[in-house]
Amino acid sequence: MATPEEFLEQTREQGLKELEDFLRIPSISSQPEHANDVRRAAGHLAEQYERVGLENAQVIETGGHPVVYADWLKAPNKPTVLLYGHYDVQPVDPLDLWTSPPFEPIRQDGQLLGRGSSDDKGQIALHWQAIQARLNSTGELPLNLKVIAEGEEEIASPHFEAFVDANAERLKTTYCVVSDTSMVAKGFPAITYALRGLIYVELRVEVASTDMHSGLLGGVAPNPAQALAEILVRLKDAAGHVLVPGFYDGVRPLSEEERRQFARVPFDEAALKKTYGLTALHGESGFTPTERNWARPTLEVNGIWGGYQGPGAKTIIPAWTAAKISCRLVPDQDPNSVTQALRDYIDEVAPKTVRVSLAELSGHGDPWITPIDHPLIKAARSALHRVYGTEPALIRSGGSIGAVEVMARRLGAPCLLVGFVLPDSLAHAPNERLDLDSFYLGRKAALQLWEEIAGIGD
Ligand SMILES: [Zn+2]
Repeated sequence: MATPEEFLEQTREQGLKELEDFLRIPSISSQPEHANDVRRAAGHLAEQYERVGLENAQVIETGGHPVVYADWLKAPNKPTVLLYGHYDVQPVDPLDLWTSPPFEPIRQDGQLLGRGSSDDKGQIALHWQAIQARLNSTGELPLNLKVIAEGEEEIASPHFEAFVDANAERLKTTYCVVSDTSMVAKGFPAITYALRGLIYVELRVEVASTDMHSGLLGGVAPNPAQALAEILVRLKDAAGHVLVPGFYDGVRPLSEEERRQFARVPFDEAALKKTYGLTALHGESGFTPTERNWARPTLEVNGIWGGYQGPGAKTIIPAWTAAKISCRLVPDQDPNSVTQALRDYIDEVAPKTVRVSLAELSGHGDPWITPIDHPLIKAARSALHRVYGTEPALIRSGGSIGAVEVMARRLGAPCLLVGFVLPDSLAHAPNERLDLDSFYLGRKAALQLWEEIAGIGD
């Protein structure tokens, strides 16, 4: 009987074919004309889960695109892992930039080209193939596994929280594992252990019921554009430090080990400037750009408008102006407290000649973290080290992943983010690709991950 590793070696071609079949289904979640394809992909995936030996495979309705579920729960006294992925994909426009049809995967120079190859069908497939290898070779898994694949990740997971709520008992787990992130580079794996949260507000500054004549009222009426500017410059100092009292309450300081880990990940300032046409970088002093991006909160003005915007001159004092402001939050900031602090501070610093109002916009999310000394992170480090022969990077991300935040909050289980694709896989862009060496190594890493997590506490 082949070992699971041997089984994976012997099924490289078969595994790739399975992924190619999955990629041929154009499961674009944002386009209504593909709704049936999304459903077809869900059914196809449930069949794969059943075929590889998982049980209770089913397509669960959510009110939107369905979630695919399957499990294997025959390891008493072992931890349970809830494994998350998503089977929906981004639209393919602009089609003319693709060198081959996006839903007819082709192999080229060690890559598999096709929409979804890396994000996230390739990662879903490598997991089902590792599961198959273990079940086929040994008849069992080392732990209890519940697998879910979402169909609405690319459209911001509108039904996911309600789904988790409605299925809380079924999804009950010791740990969550999410495979929808990237490695640092080929052969250099990464564990993402924290994400930033978000608050978003709209600030409106009003002085009058109507625009006014700048000659007749100039020197008499207050100007809301000027007042808005005065408020905004008081939010942050020139060194990038946010001036709102209480804003930094709860921010977890970075440990020396975290700083050391961040420094292992290359940061190419010149390339970043070139990509975005930046003249200079800017951010809070006292931190490296990576530290600022991953582990410090930010306050940004996202938009500002009001007054006359048309061609030529119009001599008015505007009635009102407005700005959109968002803050990226880090563990353990509380979104509600930060919003309140911002509200109180703006009320305090706003000129008394104007009326200000602050409206909360949707998009609020909690920051998330699993500390790097947590046994789950340690288990993943050791699994990746074993397979890749190198110490994985421990990284954070400046963005948010809605599903992670929901699972952490609703299921109360520590979560691990580990992905097996390369950062230059062109996810969401034309010619999305999957590095095949990384795919095959990812299958082995997925196998090893369950062994190590199963051993937590032993
Ligand atoms: Zn994804």
